[in-house]
Amino acid sequence: MVAINLGLTDEQRALKAGVAEICKRYPGEYWRDLDARREYPEAFVTELTGAGYLACLIPQEYGGAGLGVAEAALILETIHASGGSASACHAQMYIMGTVLRHGSEAQKRQYLPRIASGDLRLQAFGVTEPDAGSDTTQLKTTAVRTGDRYVVNGRKMFISRALQSDLMLLLARTTPADQVKRRTDGLSVFLVDIRGLKGLEIRPLRMMMNHSTNALFFDDVEIPADSLVGEEGRGFAYILSGMNAERILVASESIGDGRWFTEKAVAYSSQRVIFGKPIGANQGVQFPIAKAYAAVEAAALMRDKAAALFDAGEPCGAEANMVKYLAAEAAWEAGNACIDCHGGYGYAEEYDVERKFRECRLYKTAPVNNNLVLAYLGEHVLGMPRSY
Ligand SMILES: Cc1cc2nc3c(=O)[nH]c(=O)nc-3n(C[C@H](O)[C@H](O)[C@H](O)COP(=O)(O)OP(=O)(O)OC[C@H]3O[C@@H](n4cnc5c(N)ncnc54)[C@H](O)[C@@H]3O)c2cc1C
Repeated sequence: MVAINLGLTDEQRALKAGVAEICKRYPGEYWRDLDARREYPEAFVTELTGAGYLACLIPQEYGGAGLGVAEAALILETIHASGGSASACHAQMYIMGTVLRHGSEAQKRQYLPRIASGDLRLQAFGVTEPDAGSDTTQLKTTAVRTGDRYVVNGRKMFISRALQSDLMLLLARTTPADQVKRRTDGLSVFLVDIRGLKGLEIRPLRMMMNHSTNALFFDDVEIPADSLVGEEGRGFAYILSGMNAERILVASESIGDGRWFTEKAVAYSSQRVIFGKPIGANQGVQFPIAKAYAAVEAAALMRDKAAALFDAGEPCGAEANMVKYLAAEAAWEAGNACIDCHGGYGYAEEYDVERKFRECRLYKTAPVNNNLVLAYLGEHVLGMPRSY
């Protein structure tokens, strides 16, 4: 039986306070300014890394804090609840897990301590392609072994932080699709040093929000054969094994967003007086905020369950998917309630509501679309026929 903590331990409280202290130094103006210029929050990420928070999940023997997903979730939630965004650096927490679980001892010793110390950034995760999208098994980027190298050719789409990262975890096809037994076979994971890599073009994409996202073009890119993580052809399974952590962590950012929106909405609608009384006294304003609050709290409870199961080494696919879905929807509901109660001011940049509104919308779509989360629940949890 796995116990779920319904409160924070003293250590978790201290962790949260430490993160909140850093966040205070990066107020709304900081994020707003970067958003307008679509620039990476370099100072924030550097300070967070220096304080060791991004190495939270790296075991102590490799220079990290050796904490659990519950603590990693708390860090990301706190950043989002303070009005910031951890999307600039969250991937490092869960990408690293693939190297930890499936990498060789030599790879772990070579990379993890330097990632933990901040000497190296592993923030880029190259999966999505223009023609494959949600159907990862259809990836076309190839990595062909020639002697002591692999030669990579293909295109990747929406690959975030490639320009701010030293390393990228890349998923590419090593066996042609028509030569594999199962459609999930034939893909391999590589840990690639992308600094100055010949033949790799990184083309930034201007997105709805500040997300440092790019299109990547691989033209006969040569990478050392020892970039391969684990066994050739097993990459899909390796990536899947990290998805529960990814879902719980991204959901925690949504929960933080939801908390920020409800707090802002309560504060504004309690002091804004129209028709002689605070607008929050009207049920039309108050109830959407209260409903969103309930949804965010329910998602947080599911997150705590998912994290407790994950950290106990128990299966948590159902819970990780449910919280990804519930948290993204709850944050979106809270965002709508917040923008509605702010009236015209909800659209004014200086209130930060419109920025957070744009930012939180992503988590209905990425890293996996909520439709596919529901498809997972329908098929794998409820035992219904496969829909795709
Ligand atoms: C800002 C941003 C950052 C990103 N960063 C990264 C990154 O760093 N690395 C990376 O690899 N990827 C990244 N992505 C890509 C993201 O993971 C994909 O956008 C996502 O997986 C969906 O792929 P797609 O956009 O091709 O949509 P598609 O797969 O084309 O889907 C389009 C729509 O159709 C729906 N759909 C498709 N098939 C079904 C079905 N069978 N049943 C029901 N609905 C279905 C989907 O749910 C979706 O609503 C990022 C995306 C964005 C927007």
